[in-house]
Amino acid sequence: MMDPNKYSSYIFDCDGVLWKGHRDIPGSFEVLQALKSNGKKLYFLSNNSTKTPEELSQQISSHGYPALPEEIYCSGAAISKYLKRKHPNAKRLYLIGTDQLKAQLAAHGYEILHISNIEQSIITSFEDIERFATGNPVDSVVVGRDMRFDYNMGYMASLYIQNGASLISANGDSGLVLNSGKTIPGCGPLTAFLEIATRTKAEIVGKPSTFILDIIIEENNLEKETTVLIGDSMDSDIKVGKDCNVDTLLVLSGVTSVEDLPRYDFSPNFILPNLASIFN
Ligand SMILES: [Mg+2]
Repeated sequence: MMDPNKYSSYIFDCDGVLWKGHRDIPGSFEVLQALKSNGKKLYFLSNNSTKTPEELSQQISSHGYPALPEEIYCSGAAISKYLKRKHPNAKRLYLIGTDQLKAQLAAHGYEILHISNIEQSIITSFEDIERFATGNPVDSVVVGRDMRFDYNMGYMASLYIQNGASLISANGDSGLVLNSGKTIPGCGPLTAFLEIATRTKAEIVGKPSTFILDIIIEENNLEKETTVLIGDSMDSDIKVGKDCNVDTLLVLSGVTSVEDLPRYDFSPNFILPNLASIFN
């Protein structure tokens, strides 16, 4: 049984824990309020690269829990921190990602090239794309989910990577889960597309990379022994908790079911049907 009193810091994944698609998971926000009233520190960790911490804090607050932007960690915002630490000389980026991600990176001083901003008449053949990429070099290729993705975007990214740009990805998520339970490709498949095409390994910033969780722990001076990570995904949430030596609670209100668990060679510290069961 999980003893909520043992932990002073709680880190929550959002989709599959607080809500699923557009629907709240019953009781979740009451748990947040109760933990806060008991003096616990709450943080939110999302792999969503399209939202800023301010936007996600508004979304959580609109459900009745007043989350502050400084309590929110999103993979998009973490990319700038990652670049500053691991690629301090990077200035020009080629982006596969949303305009929101572009704005977040630009706010940190990066010059961003997205194919939608390139005159289409310049890139009518493979040779044109190669000429453009060689004449307009970038330091890193940054990948997030982008509904505009097409082959030309992929061609250009693959040429940049072969020209020496690093490949940075917001997350390795396989896809978005629809209300029907079926999935559509997310950032992970886009990243894999470029990894296979260029025989390069991407640097992942969001979960299951430990970078973003280490940042939360470091910036807030958290003690790992009294911190628990709560998520619905074995592949991202529980994996990153295990790799960072932070206790984990798997809730079965999202993408993982009990039948999935034998496939993994690691397991969460605790399993509950949903967040509301934490006080039962
Ligand atoms: Mg989730």
